[in-house]
Amino acid sequence: MTSPLLTLNSGARIPAQGYGVYKVPPQQTRTLVRQALETGYRLIDTAAFYLNEEGVGQAVREAIADGLVNREDLFITSKLWNDQQGYHKALHGFDESMARLGLDYLDLFLIHWPAPQQDLYRETYQAFEKLLADGRVRAIGVSNFLPEHLERLLQDSSVIPAVNQVEMHPWLQQGPLRAFHAQHGILTQAWSPLARGKLLEDPQLLCLAQELQISVAQLALCWLRDLGVSAIPKASSPERMKQNFELPAEALSPQILARIAQLDRHQRVGSDPRTVG
Ligand code: NDP
Repeated sequence: MTSPLLTLNSGARIPAQGYGVYKVPPQQTRTLVRQALETGYRLIDTAAFYLNEEGVGQAVREAIADGLVNREDLFITSKLWNDQQGYHKALHGFDESMARLGLDYLDLFLIHWPAPQQDLYRETYQAFEKLLADGRVRAIGVSNFLPEHLERLLQDSSVIPAVNQVEMHPWLQQGPLRAFHAQHGILTQAWSPLARGKLLEDPQLLCLAQELQISVAQLALCWLRDLGVSAIPKASSPERMKQNFELPAEALSPQILARIAQLDRHQRVGSDPRTVG
């Protein structure tokens, strides 16, 4: 089984479904990423902040050496942490991530948070534009940016971010932000697509999932897929990885989509981008 591919504004193709490794302990990362690759995941989402880029790189390099995957079929994302914002620091931060990953190029590099108090994200993004021009990264983007941050960024940058990775799940549906993305050709990518697991006990989603004879995790991931949103759930067992990857092929009906639309509570399980950094 493979994930559908989405096309970024850079022309690069990204698997819609990925595997995220936030809170995967460094000593387990190599094994879990290997299991994810064996399951069929080709998009792996890490960050300098997760302290597990080495394990991601190790698993990826081994899987290539073993003939399990080709580098061209993989899509590796990493993110620059807040204390490395600024033009020169960002270039240095990228080099450090690449040294930990042990890869020749990165598929996507993201500014992890806008950190508006620092007011360095525009300068940081200029460094990202250089990395793109130098061919060190295939696409550049941002994470946790609100429309106000994107608007400022677009004013003085020549490259539109390919992706904005934000918290999104049925309790936080991000309507206005997604409309902004659609207007500018930015792909929405959902972090914590299962609201860190909390969503799985939502009684209305349980009821819908039961009707469809799928799990709540699969329902939430099908919903994101059908909205054209890329998702990067984290899971710690091969069974869960498989469940989250092997989604029913059929699109959800308009009736089901309408019922999920009613569950929006504008509720974050993660941090507010206005206050981080
Ligand atoms: P998720 O919404 O992916 O939820 C993960 C939790 O759900 C884990 O506790 C996991 O348990 C559980 N789970 C996963 N699949 C299933 C399943 N099928 N059935 C039951 N439980 C399940 O939360 P994350 O916060 O991990 O977000 C996913 C990824 O998004 C991160 O790993 C990271 O890559 C990215 N991220 C990015 C952020 C950013 O600022 N850019 C912020 C936060 C996350 P278990 O692990 O025990 O299997």
